[in-house]
Amino acid sequence: MKRSLLEVENLTKIFDTKYGDLTAVDGVSFTLEEGKTLGLVGESGCGKSTTGRAILRLIEPTSGKVWFKGEDVTTANKSQLRILRKSMQIIFQDPFASLNPRKNVSDLVSEPLRWYKIYKNKKEKDSYVNKLMETVGLTQRLKSVYPHELDGGRRQRIGIARALALDPKLIICDEPVSALDVSIQAQILNLLKELQKERQLSFLFITHDLSVVNHFSDEIAVMYLGQIVEKAPSKELFNKPLHPYTQALLSAIPIPEVGERSERIMLKGEITSPINVKEDCHFSPRCRYAFDKCFHSRPKLEMISPNHFVACHLCTQKTT
Ligand code: SF4
Repeated sequence: MKRSLLEVENLTKIFDTKYGDLTAVDGVSFTLEEGKTLGLVGESGCGKSTTGRAILRLIEPTSGKVWFKGEDVTTANKSQLRILRKSMQIIFQDPFASLNPRKNVSDLVSEPLRWYKIYKNKKEKDSYVNKLMETVGLTQRLKSVYPHELDGGRRQRIGIARALALDPKLIICDEPVSALDVSIQAQILNLLKELQKERQLSFLFITHDLSVVNHFSDEIAVMYLGQIVEKAPSKELFNKPLHPYTQALLSAIPIPEVGERSERIMLKGEITSPINVKEDCHFSPRCRYAFDKCFHSRPKLEMISPNHFVACHLCTQKTT
């Protein structure tokens, strides 16, 4: 049986805090195929970045499984993980915070190559750096400048060059354009799209902004308090959102056309605490459709139509 490039099954991360168990990621499952993009969307604190980091084991998952090209990432030892990480890279949200301010562009771009002993001498290093800088649209004259001398867009291009250095198959993009101006956002998204086409890259694209992933993702998974509450092909999710939380997120996206106006769904009510979570629908205190069952039973993610999954009692009741 052909396996997906990335398979995530029941991934869970619980942090032990002085107030109790904080469930950041709660049984997340999905697959990602080669050359495709899955958008992982939700409000800050919903666990999407923790999911990305737990997949790479930058944070150790509490339970669950991650397979990359059929290899079990969750049980890999240190040296197996080092090999796997060559093919699984990450781009961080804040390029400034993720770059060492004491290193110039050439050293920053070549750092992953040095860790993996890819080049033998300065000539080879320069050749790799030149190629990577050209790939991400950075001119050679910037090789000796430092991150603080560059704008946000160029700093993020360094982050992308570093992620590409080891020729990965999967890149986890953790809010890669959130800290950038809108015009720069478009440039970086276009660059990522071009790179994906050229290199058959797969992206797990983490963002709080649904409008960013609309044209970028093949599929979108919406997260709420550590759980995926809806997952569908992008077009389907935008045309036919089923979960009340997805509907609220979509209603908040501004529509540029004059005269087109859809109702903005304002979410009221308290956000459920992720500490010592109950067996209810975590969205119930804010859901305008909540009914009795929602307060004592947690809905499972179920397929409502081909490739469209929803965790909501209301949706599953309609189809049964
Ligand atoms: Fe709303 Fe109930 Fe559906 Fe949760 S299960 S989203 S509370 S209708």
